[in-house]
Amino acid sequence: MHYFTYKNSLLYAEEVPVSTLVETYGTPLYVYSYNTLLRHFKAYDESFKDYPHLVCFALKANSNGAILRIFGEMGGGADIVSGGELYRARKAGIPPERIVYAGVGKKDDEIRYALSEGILMFNVESEQELANIDRIAGELGKKAPVALRVNPDIDPGTHPYISTGLKQNKFGIPFEHALESYKQANKLKNISVVGIHKHIGSQIISLAPFLDSLNRLVSLIDSLKEEGIGVKYLDIGGGLGIQYLDEIPPHPSELAEKIMPILNGRDITVVMEPGRTLVGNAGILLTKVLYIKKGHDRDFIIVDAGMNDLARPAMYGAYHHIMPVYKRKRKQVFADVVGPICESGDFLGKDREIQALALGEYAAIMSAGAYGYSMSSNYNSRPRAAEVLVKGSEHYIVRERESFDDLLRHEIIPDFLNGSK
Ligand code: PLP
Repeated sequence: MHYFTYKNSLLYAEEVPVSTLVETYGTPLYVYSYNTLLRHFKAYDESFKDYPHLVCFALKANSNGAILRIFGEMGGGADIVSGGELYRARKAGIPPERIVYAGVGKKDDEIRYALSEGILMFNVESEQELANIDRIAGELGKKAPVALRVNPDIDPGTHPYISTGLKQNKFGIPFEHALESYKQANKLKNISVVGIHKHIGSQIISLAPFLDSLNRLVSLIDSLKEEGIGVKYLDIGGGLGIQYLDEIPPHPSELAEKIMPILNGRDITVVMEPGRTLVGNAGILLTKVLYIKKGHDRDFIIVDAGMNDLARPAMYGAYHHIMPVYKRKRKQVFADVVGPICESGDFLGKDREIQALALGEYAAIMSAGAYGYSMSSNYNSRPRAAEVLVKGSEHYIVRERESFDDLLRHEIIPDFLNGSK
């Protein structure tokens, strides 16, 4: 559910016609709906209201500070995977005791930073990392709170690039070693074992793999208890899917309903790390049609947004609805909607039976709020897009469009190339 709808044939973001937004801010333009963000957060928070829980938004999906503040003010926390994400979360006012930190390659300075901030827990992905956190915590005279990220070897049934809980994936500690790793962790002087974590992948449409992996973790929690190792937090990760095309993803309330019996009264706080479900359908990418070229078996609709703005189609062959901003009777055409980048993989829609778009008109790439701006780049020296937040009939710029000067900002030309002149 989202608040991007047609009114009198014109696409609106909440109460604002998106034509106003493109006229005010130009294109390509990311637009987020405040009330959609709120609604999605509440869907999680209210579904789990009868159980101690913490909703930690996965920053990697969208790290705009305005969005982080919205979730933070609603009591949400942050799931981070880098020092940079920790910095963003803290700058957005998210308290450290609501921050969990995953990622297979945490660097010493990042670990130090997280320890000094006092985060809720590190989701540890290997025994070497555990030893490293123990060492650094010792140097700082602190005890590091940790959960082990357990790889349950469950196929989430999603795209291979976004499945993370299989044996062959780089993530987590193999399920069969986990008990042993916990025993070791429990012996380390500067480590305090507080939780258990899993995240098996993203854009998961069926609850079955989610619940299978949870069952495995709960059996491990029981084995840990027998060893005298109690955990306070069960971090179930993120990963629920959204509707891009015609998928029917589960609602968080279904997840909550199914989880409760598995937890069966165990005294544990459920931490969750949704990314895509909170922001995916709360954002669109607006773009302008620059040219229409007749190919030999299709039209190429060339727009001013490319794979540098929205990488998902090029990267995963992902599908996004592409809607005209003005709805009218149109003929259907067979087309690729492509960007200006010099790569054949630069498309936003491929092999599409699509409503014909006219030169100079605007289109909306739907469901672009997750892994959109956060994965964008300057490839082909294209300044990154602007981002706007709409709340009712108000709109706010939440990130300025980059300039050409921004492209050069960190470049240094050595003196021998007349860099000082
Ligand atoms: N938690 C972890 C550890 C992740 O790696 C990811 C995504 O890669 C997420 C949460 C968020 O996943 P999603 O956006 O599918 O909810």
